[in-house]
Amino acid sequence: MKPSAANAARKSVAEDAQQVLRAIELIELGARMQVLESELALPRERMIRLYHELKGKAPPRGLLPSSADWYMTWLANIHSSLFYNAYLFLREDAGEPHIDALTKGYRLYVEHCQTTGAEVLLDLTRAWTLVRFFGADIVQMAPCSRCNGKFVAYQYDLCKGMVCGACCPPPRAGKTIKPSAARAAESESAHAA
Ligand SMILES: [Zn+2]
Repeated sequence: MKPSAANAARKSVAEDAQQVLRAIELIELGARMQVLESELALPRERMIRLYHELKGKAPPRGLLPSSADWYMTWLANIHSSLFYNAYLFLREDAGEPHIDALTKGYRLYVEHCQTTGAEVLLDLTRAWTLVRFFGADIVQMAPCSRCNGKFVAYQYDLCKGMVCGACCPPPRAGKTIKPSAARAAESESAHAA
């Protein structure tokens, strides 16, 4: 092999390895096939095999969420905004490429949930879809007029004077904050009886 050909081969091996590592990271974080196919240049069959190996099952079928409405319900909005603020910081201030900002931002979001004892409401596929909605100008970040935090809002919403879901939760919010904890408590007391 000529030196240039050897260099090219080495480069493509390194690129391939990087793609596989990214696929593993995305699968472990819970990405669906559509995310892998759109972010990586690996053959589909190979990604399905990787998914099988890591998860011990075939990737789930089905369509991705196509509406931004989910991100607007109050608790999902707080979670989504938390993730997107982290993503934006990594992308714009730290200069990370999109895929790294996505995985690192998502990890930061999950860590935050774990340290505060909150349920992880936003899965990786929804986080990825949210970034796409920003790219398609469907949503924007809008400041809360009370806490000054930035929150996900529809692009066409007039956000002047907006109050976020954290500053003004709906009256029944306390009852729905941790459905999983409530269920766990319920089954505990059923066992005790
Ligand atoms: Zn607020």
